[in-house]
Amino acid sequence: MINAFQPMLGDDELAAVAEVFRSNWIGKGPRVRAFEDAFAAHLGVGPDQVMTLNSCTEATFLAMELAGLGAGDDVVLPAVSFVGAANAVAAHGARPVFCDVDPRTLNPSASDVEAALTPATRAVLVLHYAGYPGDIAAIAELCRARGLLLIEDAACAVASRVAERACGTFGDLGVWSFDHGKIAVTVDGGMLYARDPELLRRGRKRAYFGLEQFSGFDHAKVTDTRWWEFEVGSFSRRSIMNDVTAAIGCVQLRRLPEFLRRRREIVERYDTELAGLPGLLLPPAPPPGHRTSHYMYWVQMEEHVRDEVARDLYRRGVYATFRYPPLHRVPIYGSDARLPGAEHAADRTLCLPLHQGLDDTDVDLIVETVRTSVPRRSASAAASAPASAVRGA
Ligand SMILES: *Cc1c(COP(=O)(O)O)cnc(C)c1O
Repeated sequence: MINAFQPMLGDDELAAVAEVFRSNWIGKGPRVRAFEDAFAAHLGVGPDQVMTLNSCTEATFLAMELAGLGAGDDVVLPAVSFVGAANAVAAHGARPVFCDVDPRTLNPSASDVEAALTPATRAVLVLHYAGYPGDIAAIAELCRARGLLLIEDAACAVASRVAERACGTFGDLGVWSFDHGKIAVTVDGGMLYARDPELLRRGRKRAYFGLEQFSGFDHAKVTDTRWWEFEVGSFSRRSIMNDVTAAIGCVQLRRLPEFLRRRREIVERYDTELAGLPGLLLPPAPPPGHRTSHYMYWVQMEEHVRDEVARDLYRRGVYATFRYPPLHRVPIYGSDARLPGAEHAADRTLCLPLHQGLDDTDVDLIVETVRTSVPRRSASAAASAPASAVRGA
Protein backbone atom coordinates (compact mmCIF):
# COMPACT_ATOMS: atom_id res chain seq x y z
CA MET A 1 0.00 0.00 0.00
CA ILE A 2 1.21 3.51 -0.79
CA ASN A 3 0.50 5.63 2.29
CA ALA A 4 -0.89 9.15 2.14
CA PHE A 5 1.54 10.28 4.84
CA GLN A 6 4.68 8.54 6.02
CA PRO A 7 7.74 9.46 8.04
CA MET A 8 11.31 8.89 6.86
CA LEU A 9 13.61 7.58 9.57
CA GLY A 10 17.00 5.95 9.11
CA ASP A 11 20.41 5.16 10.47
CA ASP A 12 21.11 8.70 11.69
CA GLU A 13 18.00 8.67 13.89
CA LEU A 14 18.89 5.18 15.17
CA ALA A 15 22.42 6.32 16.03
CA ALA A 16 21.04 9.35 17.87
CA VAL A 17 18.69 7.12 19.88
CA ALA A 18 21.52 4.67 20.65
CA GLU A 19 23.58 7.54 21.96
CA VAL A 20 20.73 8.58 24.31
CA PHE A 21 20.40 5.00 25.56
CA ARG A 22 24.11 4.84 26.31
CA SER A 23 23.97 8.14 28.20
CA ASN A 24 21.51 6.68 30.73
CA TRP A 25 19.49 9.91 30.57
CA ILE A 26 16.33 9.17 28.60
CA GLY A 27 14.05 11.69 30.31
CA LYS A 28 13.82 15.41 29.62
CA GLY A 29 17.35 16.75 29.50
CA PRO A 30 20.03 18.22 27.24
CA ARG A 31 18.59 16.85 23.96
CA VAL A 32 15.21 18.41 24.63
CA ARG A 33 16.96 21.73 25.17
CA ALA A 34 19.01 21.21 21.99
CA PHE A 35 15.86 20.45 20.00
CA GLU A 36 14.13 23.57 21.35
CA ASP A 37 17.18 25.71 20.51
CA ALA A 38 17.43 24.26 17.00
CA PHE A 39 13.72 24.78 16.36
CA ALA A 40 13.84 28.36 17.66
CA ALA A 41 16.74 29.05 15.28
CA HIS A 42 14.78 27.42 12.43
CA LEU A 43 11.85 29.74 13.16
CA GLY A 44 14.05 32.78 13.71
CA VAL A 45 12.82 33.42 17.27
CA GLY A 46 14.47 33.43 20.68
CA PRO A 47 15.19 30.15 22.47
CA ASP A 48 12.99 31.34 25.37
CA GLN A 49 10.02 31.67 22.98
CA VAL A 50 9.53 27.95 22.36
CA MET A 51 8.91 24.89 24.51
CA THR A 52 8.48 21.24 23.61
CA LEU A 53 5.50 19.13 24.66
CA ASN A 54 4.51 15.51 24.18
CA SER A 55 2.09 16.41 21.36
CA CYS A 56 0.75 19.31 19.36
CA THR A 57 -2.71 18.74 20.81
CA GLU A 58 -1.23 19.17 24.30
CA ALA A 59 0.44 22.38 23.07
CA THR A 60 -2.96 23.65 21.88
CA PHE A 61 -4.63 22.78 25.19
CA LEU A 62 -1.81 24.58 27.01
CA ALA A 63 -2.10 27.57 24.67
CA MET A 64 -5.77 27.91 25.66
CA GLU A 65 -4.79 27.97 29.34
CA LEU A 66 -1.93 30.43 28.91
CA ALA A 67 -4.24 32.69 26.89
CA GLY A 68 -6.74 32.51 29.74
CA LEU A 69 -9.56 31.42 27.45
CA GLY A 70 -12.62 29.81 28.99
CA ALA A 71 -16.32 30.10 29.72
CA GLY A 72 -17.96 33.07 28.01
CA ASP A 73 -15.24 33.38 25.36
CA ASP A 74 -15.75 32.70 21.67
CA VAL A 75 -12.82 31.43 19.62
CA VAL A 76 -13.12 31.72 15.83
CA LEU A 77 -11.52 28.92 13.85
CA PRO A 78 -11.87 27.77 10.25
CA ALA A 79 -14.40 24.96 9.76
CA VAL A 80 -11.58 23.08 8.04
CA SER A 81 -9.56 22.60 11.22
CA PHE A 82 -8.13 19.65 13.07
CA VAL A 83 -10.44 18.12 15.73
CA GLY A 84 -7.78 18.62 18.40
CA ALA A 85 -7.99 22.40 17.94
CA ALA A 86 -11.76 22.55 18.38
CA ASN A 87 -11.51 20.14 21.33
CA ALA A 88 -8.96 22.40 23.01
CA VAL A 89 -11.37 25.32 22.71
CA ALA A 90 -14.43 23.42 23.92
CA ALA A 91 -12.63 21.51 26.69
CA HIS A 92 -11.76 24.82 28.34
CA GLY A 93 -15.37 25.97 28.30
CA ALA A 94 -14.93 28.42 25.43
CA ARG A 95 -17.16 28.21 22.34
CA PRO A 96 -15.71 27.22 18.96
CA VAL A 97 -17.21 29.49 16.28
CA PHE A 98 -16.46 28.21 12.79
CA CYS A 99 -15.71 30.51 9.89
CA ASP A 100 -15.77 29.66 6.20
CA VAL A 101 -12.75 28.90 4.01
CA ASP A 102 -11.86 29.53 0.39
CA PRO A 103 -13.21 26.55 -1.59
CA ARG A 104 -9.95 26.24 -3.57
CA THR A 105 -7.26 26.80 -0.93
CA LEU A 106 -9.29 25.60 2.10
CA ASN A 107 -7.76 28.47 4.07
CA PRO A 108 -9.88 31.29 5.52
CA SER A 109 -9.45 34.84 4.27
CA ALA A 110 -9.34 37.75 6.71
CA SER A 111 -12.90 38.57 5.71
CA ASP A 112 -14.04 35.00 6.42
CA VAL A 113 -12.59 35.41 9.92
CA GLU A 114 -14.11 38.87 10.30
CA ALA A 115 -17.57 37.63 9.28
CA ALA A 116 -17.52 35.12 12.14
CA LEU A 117 -16.49 37.53 14.92
CA THR A 118 -19.02 37.98 17.73
CA PRO A 119 -19.04 40.41 20.66
CA ALA A 120 -17.67 37.53 22.78
CA THR A 121 -14.78 36.69 20.44
CA ARG A 122 -11.46 36.84 22.28
CA ALA A 123 -9.24 34.74 20.04
CA VAL A 124 -8.74 33.40 16.53
CA LEU A 125 -7.17 29.98 15.98
CA VAL A 126 -6.11 29.43 12.37
CA LEU A 127 -4.78 26.44 10.51
CA HIS A 128 -2.33 26.70 7.60
CA TYR A 129 -4.04 24.25 5.27
CA ALA A 130 -1.61 21.81 3.66
CA GLY A 131 1.22 24.09 4.74
CA TYR A 132 0.04 27.06 2.67
CA PRO A 133 0.48 30.22 4.75
CA GLY A 134 -2.85 31.59 3.47
CA ASP A 135 -4.09 35.04 4.47
CA ILE A 136 -2.11 34.98 7.74
CA ALA A 137 -0.60 38.46 7.45
CA ALA A 138 -4.02 40.08 6.97
CA ILE A 139 -5.57 37.90 9.71
CA ALA A 140 -2.77 38.94 12.11
CA GLU A 141 -3.47 42.56 11.22
CA LEU A 142 -7.21 42.09 11.82
CA CYS A 143 -6.53 40.50 15.22
CA ARG A 144 -4.21 43.34 16.20
CA ALA A 145 -6.77 45.96 15.15
CA ARG A 146 -9.56 44.24 17.13
CA GLY A 147 -7.48 43.35 20.18
CA LEU A 148 -7.93 39.61 19.62
CA LEU A 149 -5.41 36.91 20.46
CA LEU A 150 -4.08 35.01 17.47
CA ILE A 151 -3.13 31.35 17.86
CA GLU A 152 -1.74 29.46 14.84
CA ASP A 153 -2.04 25.73 14.32
CA ALA A 154 1.16 25.38 12.30
CA ALA A 155 1.16 21.56 12.43
CA CYS A 156 1.19 21.43 8.60
CA ALA A 157 3.48 24.43 8.26
CA VAL A 158 6.82 23.40 9.76
CA ALA A 159 8.78 25.22 7.03
CA SER A 160 6.15 27.66 5.72
CA ARG A 161 6.99 31.32 5.48
CA VAL A 162 5.65 34.63 4.25
CA ALA A 163 8.64 36.65 3.12
CA GLU A 164 11.08 35.53 5.82
CA ARG A 165 8.57 35.21 8.64
CA ALA A 166 7.79 31.68 9.81
CA CYS A 167 4.18 30.58 10.00
CA GLY A 168 3.27 30.05 13.62
CA THR A 169 5.01 33.29 14.67
CA PHE A 170 2.54 35.82 13.25
CA GLY A 171 0.38 35.83 16.36
CA ASP A 172 0.62 35.42 20.11
CA LEU A 173 0.93 31.65 20.23
CA GLY A 174 1.74 28.93 17.69
CA VAL A 175 1.82 25.13 17.76
CA TRP A 176 3.59 22.44 15.69
CA SER A 177 3.30 18.66 15.59
CA PHE A 178 5.99 16.01 15.17
CA ASP A 179 3.65 13.01 15.24
CA HIS A 180 4.09 9.98 12.96
CA GLY A 181 2.31 11.60 10.03
CA LYS A 182 4.13 14.91 9.83
CA ILE A 183 7.08 15.96 7.67
CA ALA A 184 9.61 15.94 10.54
CA VAL A 185 8.73 13.53 13.33
CA THR A 186 9.76 12.75 16.88
CA VAL A 187 7.37 9.72 16.97
CA ASP A 188 5.13 11.89 19.16
CA GLY A 189 5.81 15.45 20.08
CA GLY A 190 4.77 19.06 19.83
CA MET A 191 6.14 22.58 20.08
CA LEU A 192 4.59 25.74 21.48
CA TYR A 193 5.73 29.24 20.51
CA ALA A 194 4.78 32.32 22.52
CA ARG A 195 5.59 35.87 21.52
CA ASP A 196 5.86 36.65 25.25
CA PRO A 197 8.51 34.46 26.94
CA GLU A 198 6.82 35.09 30.30
CA LEU A 199 3.88 32.94 29.13
CA LEU A 200 6.25 30.03 28.55
CA ARG A 201 7.79 30.40 31.99
CA ARG A 202 4.28 29.60 33.24
CA GLY A 203 3.80 27.01 30.52
CA ARG A 204 6.85 25.00 31.59
CA LYS A 205 5.46 24.70 35.12
CA ARG A 206 2.06 23.69 33.74
CA ALA A 207 3.70 20.94 31.72
CA TYR A 208 5.30 19.47 34.84
CA PHE A 209 2.80 19.11 37.70
CA GLY A 210 2.76 22.84 38.41
CA LEU A 211 6.08 22.47 40.24
CA GLU A 212 7.64 25.85 40.93
CA GLN A 213 11.12 24.49 40.34
CA PHE A 214 11.85 21.50 38.19
CA SER A 215 14.63 19.79 40.04
CA GLY A 216 15.35 20.61 43.63
CA PHE A 217 18.79 19.15 43.14
CA ASP A 218 19.58 21.52 40.24
CA HIS A 219 18.57 24.51 42.28
CA ALA A 220 20.01 23.44 45.61
CA LYS A 221 22.86 25.46 47.00
CA VAL A 222 25.64 23.64 48.73
CA THR A 223 24.26 24.84 52.04
CA ASP A 224 20.70 23.66 51.24
CA THR A 225 19.58 20.41 52.63
CA ARG A 226 16.32 18.68 51.70
CA TRP A 227 16.44 19.50 47.98
CA TRP A 228 13.81 16.78 47.60
CA GLU A 229 11.07 19.03 48.88
CA PHE A 230 8.94 20.90 46.40
CA GLU A 231 6.40 23.61 45.98
CA VAL A 232 3.27 23.08 43.87
CA GLY A 233 1.77 26.17 42.23
CA SER A 234 -1.09 24.63 40.24
CA PHE A 235 -2.86 21.29 39.79
CA SER A 236 -1.10 20.49 36.57
CA ARG A 237 -0.27 17.42 34.57
CA ARG A 238 2.85 16.02 32.98
CA SER A 239 3.18 16.64 29.28
CA ILE A 240 6.90 17.11 28.69
CA MET A 241 9.04 15.73 25.87
CA ASN A 242 11.88 13.27 26.56
CA ASP A 243 15.48 13.04 25.32
CA VAL A 244 14.85 9.95 23.18
CA THR A 245 12.24 11.65 21.01
CA ALA A 246 14.08 14.99 21.09
CA ALA A 247 17.23 13.29 19.75
CA ILE A 248 15.17 11.99 16.80
CA GLY A 249 13.75 15.49 16.34
CA CYS A 250 17.22 17.05 16.13
CA VAL A 251 18.17 14.71 13.28
CA GLN A 252 14.84 15.20 11.49
CA LEU A 253 15.16 18.97 11.68
CA ARG A 254 18.63 18.73 10.11
CA ARG A 255 17.18 16.60 7.32
CA LEU A 256 14.21 18.89 6.76
CA PRO A 257 15.70 20.67 3.69
CA GLU A 258 16.31 17.26 2.06
CA PHE A 259 12.70 16.21 2.84
CA LEU A 260 11.35 19.45 1.41
CA ARG A 261 13.39 19.06 -1.77
CA ARG A 262 11.95 15.60 -2.44
CA ARG A 263 8.41 16.78 -1.66
CA ARG A 264 8.83 19.69 -4.06
CA GLU A 265 9.99 17.30 -6.81
CA ILE A 266 6.89 15.15 -6.33
CA VAL A 267 4.62 18.22 -6.31
CA GLU A 268 6.24 19.40 -9.55
CA ARG A 269 5.54 16.02 -11.14
CA TYR A 270 1.89 16.12 -10.01
CA ASP A 271 1.61 19.71 -11.25
CA THR A 272 2.96 18.89 -14.70
CA GLU A 273 1.57 15.42 -15.25
CA LEU A 274 -1.95 16.15 -13.99
CA ALA A 275 -2.23 19.60 -15.58
CA GLY A 276 -5.07 20.11 -18.02
CA LEU A 277 -6.86 16.87 -17.16
CA PRO A 278 -10.57 17.63 -17.76
CA GLY A 279 -12.60 17.50 -14.55
CA LEU A 280 -9.57 17.92 -12.28
CA LEU A 281 -8.44 21.06 -10.46
CA LEU A 282 -4.94 21.29 -9.00
CA PRO A 283 -3.96 23.31 -5.92
CA PRO A 284 -3.59 27.01 -6.76
CA ALA A 285 0.00 28.28 -6.79
CA PRO A 286 0.86 30.12 -3.55
CA PRO A 287 1.16 33.89 -4.03
CA PRO A 288 4.65 35.42 -4.50
CA GLY A 289 6.64 35.54 -1.27
CA HIS A 290 4.73 32.59 0.24
CA ARG A 291 6.61 29.37 0.88
CA THR A 292 4.67 26.20 1.67
CA SER A 293 5.92 23.08 3.45
CA HIS A 294 4.20 20.86 0.83
CA TYR A 295 2.50 18.90 3.58
CA MET A 296 -0.46 17.88 1.42
CA TYR A 297 -1.23 17.85 -2.30
CA TRP A 298 -4.94 18.23 -2.88
CA VAL A 299 -6.94 17.89 -6.07
CA GLN A 300 -10.59 18.70 -6.67
CA MET A 301 -13.26 17.01 -8.74
CA GLU A 302 -17.02 16.92 -9.00
CA GLU A 303 -18.66 15.60 -5.88
CA HIS A 304 -19.37 11.96 -6.73
CA VAL A 305 -16.36 11.66 -8.99
CA ARG A 306 -14.08 12.34 -6.00
CA ASP A 307 -15.35 9.32 -4.07
CA GLU A 308 -15.04 7.02 -7.10
CA VAL A 309 -11.51 8.19 -7.86
CA ALA A 310 -10.55 7.58 -4.21
CA ARG A 311 -11.89 4.04 -4.55
CA ASP A 312 -10.04 3.46 -7.85
CA LEU A 313 -6.80 4.56 -6.20
CA TYR A 314 -7.48 2.32 -3.21
CA ARG A 315 -8.06 -0.70 -5.48
CA ARG A 316 -4.61 -0.09 -6.94
CA GLY A 317 -2.99 0.11 -3.52
CA VAL A 318 -2.93 3.88 -3.16
CA TYR A 319 -4.37 5.42 -0.02
CA ALA A 320 -5.74 8.90 -0.75
CA THR A 321 -7.86 10.76 1.78
CA PHE A 322 -9.49 14.07 2.60
CA ARG A 323 -8.20 16.34 5.36
CA TYR A 324 -9.93 17.91 7.28
CA PRO A 325 -13.68 17.25 7.14
CA PRO A 326 -15.38 20.49 8.26
CA LEU A 327 -16.09 20.61 11.97
CA HIS A 328 -19.31 22.62 11.74
CA ARG A 329 -20.86 19.38 10.45
CA VAL A 330 -19.70 17.44 13.54
CA PRO A 331 -22.67 17.51 15.95
CA ILE A 332 -20.76 17.67 19.26
CA TYR A 333 -19.49 21.20 18.47
CA GLY A 334 -23.09 22.43 18.28
CA SER A 335 -22.65 24.63 15.21
CA ASP A 336 -25.56 25.52 12.95
CA ALA A 337 -23.38 27.58 10.58
CA ARG A 338 -23.86 27.35 6.81
CA LEU A 339 -20.41 27.61 5.29
CA PRO A 340 -20.62 27.15 1.52
CA GLY A 341 -16.87 27.36 0.83
CA ALA A 342 -16.03 24.64 3.36
CA GLU A 343 -18.94 22.46 2.22
CA HIS A 344 -18.05 22.80 -1.46
CA ALA A 345 -14.43 21.85 -0.73
CA ALA A 346 -15.35 18.98 1.58
CA ASP A 347 -17.35 17.23 -1.11
CA ARG A 348 -14.79 17.65 -3.88
CA THR A 349 -11.28 17.53 -2.40
CA LEU A 350 -8.92 14.56 -2.31
CA CYS A 351 -5.40 14.56 -0.85
CA LEU A 352 -3.02 12.44 -2.92
CA PRO A 353 -0.09 10.72 -1.20
CA LEU A 354 2.72 13.16 -0.51
CA HIS A 355 5.79 12.24 1.49
CA GLN A 356 9.54 12.10 0.99
CA GLY A 357 9.48 8.28 0.94
CA LEU A 358 7.55 8.09 -2.36
CA ASP A 359 9.75 6.86 -5.20
CA ASP A 360 9.28 7.64 -8.88
CA THR A 361 7.42 4.37 -9.52
CA ASP A 362 4.91 5.23 -6.79
CA VAL A 363 4.33 8.62 -8.39
CA ASP A 364 3.96 6.95 -11.82
CA LEU A 365 1.22 4.68 -10.46
CA ILE A 366 -0.63 7.53 -8.72
CA VAL A 367 -0.48 9.80 -11.78
CA GLU A 368 -1.54 7.07 -14.17
CA THR A 369 -4.46 6.00 -11.97
CA VAL A 370 -5.71 9.57 -11.61
CA ARG A 371 -5.30 10.19 -15.34
CA THR A 372 -7.44 7.18 -16.27
CA SER A 373 -9.92 7.34 -13.39
CA VAL A 374 -10.96 11.01 -13.47
CA PRO A 375 -12.16 11.12 -17.12
CA ARG A 376 -13.87 7.73 -16.84
CA ARG A 377 -15.67 8.57 -13.59
CA SER A 378 -16.56 12.08 -14.80
CA ALA A 379 -18.13 10.64 -17.96
CA SER A 380 -20.25 8.14 -16.07
CA ALA A 381 -21.31 10.79 -13.51
CA ALA A 382 -22.38 13.07 -16.38
CA ALA A 383 -24.33 10.23 -18.03
CA SER A 384 -26.24 9.33 -14.87
CA ALA A 385 -26.89 12.78 -13.37
CA PRO A 386 -29.64 15.16 -14.48
CA ALA A 387 -28.18 17.83 -16.77
CA SER A 388 -29.07 20.65 -14.37
CA ALA A 389 -27.14 19.05 -11.52
CA VAL A 390 -24.02 18.82 -13.64
CA ARG A 391 -24.35 22.40 -14.87
CA GLY A 392 -24.97 23.73 -11.40
CA ALA A 393 -22.11 21.81 -9.85
C1 LIG B 1 -1.34 16.38 13.30
C2 LIG B 1 -2.08 17.62 13.55
C3 LIG B 1 -2.36 18.08 14.85
C4 LIG B 1 -2.14 17.26 16.08
O1 LIG B 1 -0.86 16.92 16.33
P1 LIG B 1 -0.50 15.84 17.46
O2 LIG B 1 0.96 16.05 17.66
O3 LIG B 1 -0.82 14.50 16.89
O4 LIG B 1 -1.31 16.14 18.67
C5 LIG B 1 -2.97 19.31 14.99
N1 LIG B 1 -3.29 20.06 13.93
C6 LIG B 1 -3.06 19.65 12.68
C7 LIG B 1 -3.43 20.52 11.55
C8 LIG B 1 -2.46 18.42 12.44
O5 LIG B 1 -2.27 18.01 11.18
